[in-house]
Amino acid sequence: MKQKYERPSIKKMNTGFMNKFGTRTDFDPVKEISGVSIKSLIADYGSPVFVLSEKQIRKNYQSAARSFKTRYPKVQFAWSYKTNYLNAVCKIFHQEGSWAEVVSGFEYHKALGNGVAGNQIIFNGPDKKEADLILAIENHSSIHIDHFDELYQIIRICEQIDKKAKVAIRVNFDTGTYPIWDRFGFNYENGQAWTAINKIISAKNLVLTGLHCHIGTFMLSTSAYAVAANKLCELAMRCKVELQNPIQYLDLGGGFPSTNTLKGAYLPGVDTVPSVEEFADAITNTILSFGFTADELPLLILECGRVLIDDAGYLIGSVVANKRLSDGRRATIMDFGINILFTSNWYDHKISVAQEAGQYTEDTVLFGPLCMNVDVVRESITLPLLEPKDNVVVHKVGAYNMTQWMQFINMRPAVVLIDQNAKCHLIRKPETLEYLEMMEQLPDYLK
Ligand SMILES: *Cc1c(COP(=O)(O)O)cnc(C)c1O
Repeated sequence: MKQKYERPSIKKMNTGFMNKFGTRTDFDPVKEISGVSIKSLIADYGSPVFVLSEKQIRKNYQSAARSFKTRYPKVQFAWSYKTNYLNAVCKIFHQEGSWAEVVSGFEYHKALGNGVAGNQIIFNGPDKKEADLILAIENHSSIHIDHFDELYQIIRICEQIDKKAKVAIRVNFDTGTYPIWDRFGFNYENGQAWTAINKIISAKNLVLTGLHCHIGTFMLSTSAYAVAANKLCELAMRCKVELQNPIQYLDLGGGFPSTNTLKGAYLPGVDTVPSVEEFADAITNTILSFGFTADELPLLILECGRVLIDDAGYLIGSVVANKRLSDGRRATIMDFGINILFTSNWYDHKISVAQEAGQYTEDTVLFGPLCMNVDVVRESITLPLLEPKDNVVVHKVGAYNMTQWMQFINMRPAVVLIDQNAKCHLIRKPETLEYLEMMEQLPDYLK
């Protein structure tokens, strides 16, 4: 077959080692995920398609749980629903022993639907509707209060329905990383958190069981968690000593980074982000050395999201076409865009080719298929030359993409779970026009 003509161009050396730009080059094709071939996934489910590896999800969970449980006697994980609330994903985490951490009414109902007991649902977030609060109180869920108005609302509801609510407060503080996340919860430094605690304890229908924080996301500083844990311990100790209200649990939230590479980072994420073990060290050393007696040590809750799912998710897509831009740059149009790959805003995702490719590589702009100038999956990535219909694999997309995606110009694609025996399961069907129009209503006069 006659080779296609490719205009010669100067390219960076790629030797497989770190080069002077700090990046490593790895153009080996990835032809399968968890024992299933990319080509068969596309043949069976279309392109693009999201793929999740159950084996990797369980491995991530078990490894994170081990990191904490080998360091601290009482540990509980609560799966952060908003990170990926496909029921199949939630069920895997619940099977592993995770509670549910939800931040809205519909997520709360999803957790109930997934069979999570009410007292194993943590209800976070700044906007909990009255009906959902009532349900959470009746179900003995842990309600993490975000602001004073919510505190007063819960006091009023409890009086009205004559029930006690199990509550915690979310606390924010200066952990040494900036900007401070002070929009959620009560501030520690200015005394607001302590005021809230006092109001709760003097309210006869509220039971203060825990203290909560979630200091940020994709946090690269383990010491920030040590600071956070220390401040929560201080509050807990004051609750016991000054208010005779021992705290049952400290919830350190989520925020541990996945091994994705942040945009503009000099070194790849796999080489730079701290491990869960290091976060576990920072948190548990702080609590263990704070001065609680062994039987008074609070339960430690973690609400990890991203770190447990990101590297278990893949997006497989296909090349639509190649073109040259006016400045000579090579551009490749993919069949997936930023509407289903939100995280391409933050990460330089690793992207692999899914078939053998020639030895030539070139810096390429990867466009999505949308009729929108902003639909750039990657400004510049060195890839082997791709042809129309060739496939690529975008790595570590399991967190937030399958919840923040939007239907825009194109439908959202199928999501497939590969189980531990390399069997595929469609866990979310690709959207259709019928699905989309199901919610629409045409006024009679326009019919
Ligand atoms: C989003 C969120 C999490 C999970 O955060 P990750 O950064 O994905 O680990 C945990 N707790 C709360 C309150 C959240 O809002």
